[in-house]
Amino acid sequence: MNIIAFIILIALAFELVLNGIADYLNLDMLKDDLPRDFEGIYDPERYRKSQDYLKVNTRFGWITAVFNLVVLLLFWFGKGFPLLDDWVRSFNFGPIIGGLTYAAILMLVKALVSLPFSIYHTFVIEERFGFNQTAWSTFLLDLLKGLGLAILLGTPLLAGILAFFEYAGSNAWWFCWIAVTLYMLGVQFIAPTWIMPLFNKFTPLEVGELKSAILSYADSIKFPIENVYVMDGSKRSSKSNAFFTGFGAHRRIVLFDTLIKQHTTGELVAILAHEMGHYKKKHIIQSLVIGILQMGFMLFLLSFFISYQGLFDAFYMPRTSVYAGLIFFAMLFLPLGFFIGLIMQSLSRRNETEADRFAVQTTRDAQSMVDALKKLSVHNLSNLLPHPFYVFLNYSHPPVLQRIKTILAG
Ligand SMILES: [Zn+2]
Repeated sequence: MNIIAFIILIALAFELVLNGIADYLNLDMLKDDLPRDFEGIYDPERYRKSQDYLKVNTRFGWITAVFNLVVLLLFWFGKGFPLLDDWVRSFNFGPIIGGLTYAAILMLVKALVSLPFSIYHTFVIEERFGFNQTAWSTFLLDLLKGLGLAILLGTPLLAGILAFFEYAGSNAWWFCWIAVTLYMLGVQFIAPTWIMPLFNKFTPLEVGELKSAILSYADSIKFPIENVYVMDGSKRSSKSNAFFTGFGAHRRIVLFDTLIKQHTTGELVAILAHEMGHYKKKHIIQSLVIGILQMGFMLFLLSFFISYQGLFDAFYMPRTSVYAGLIFFAMLFLPLGFFIGLIMQSLSRRNETEADRFAVQTTRDAQSMVDALKKLSVHNLSNLLPHPFYVFLNYSHPPVLQRIKTILAG
């Protein structure tokens, strides 16, 4: 058997088994009695509901993962990659337009395969647990806008990468690295003002007690903001959140409208203090730099594999091409990406703890932070007691009880 195909298959199986073990351990942790910290906050009925939510989502995750894997294997070993290549080549589009067409068809197929799952998740699971607020019209419009955006933003990016690797010889990878980095930074720069408003409405927080509390806190930590925005998150889900986005003149602090309804002013300031903590502690720059380095590393590796015959043999491709090499390399990179992802997640959990600490130290109000975290977990039906191995594989934030413990320990 081809060594590349062997590596990819082992990696796919490894990830499936690892996730299976983590899921099993995670569900096995479920206990009837409520953790003491949550007495009086979670009523027994809702606590049981949160456990049901976890079970339903775990089962759904399994069905999705196995289905996707089966579709991939059928397409791969049914020689779908070369068949599609022959068909696209018959139009004689040339390496760039042909490559874009090839990639676009594969992405469209992938999107169509996952569409029923996404519909089921939104309109059956989230609906059943009372989270879904998405109208069908919103769902369809989101799909169309997402598709339009993918075409508009993805086409020049992919065309650029294809052209560099097609024509720039051994310099291609770092030409590409610079171009992709500039492009990504540009997109991130305009995202808060040009892209995100396509999906949601952002209104400046109205003048009042909350706004002045937030602005005076921001002032106290020398965090210049002109405004705080409220996003109509309730258009899709009753789950709540807050985030920080963009940089320079375009940066924004955003609160979901659903969040404002559930929390006191003190709690909302604590939540935003956490978000500003990410900025103050340089977590945003950090993840940007790591992302850029990782991109460079991937492109460098890609430059070795893109014309490696073994990579094409693994997918039964008789002819080599830059576009197919790019797609196959992405699959070969999966195992490495999996480990990089684990490192990034553990870094993220550390950063979350640091942002919590920043919030508590600067607001000098640990109780509001704790209350906010408790309310958020109850409202979003979070799992209070995830298994450590599951956390290691899947969590970008530490589990809520651990966060509360760290905060109260000072
Ligand atoms: Zn955070």
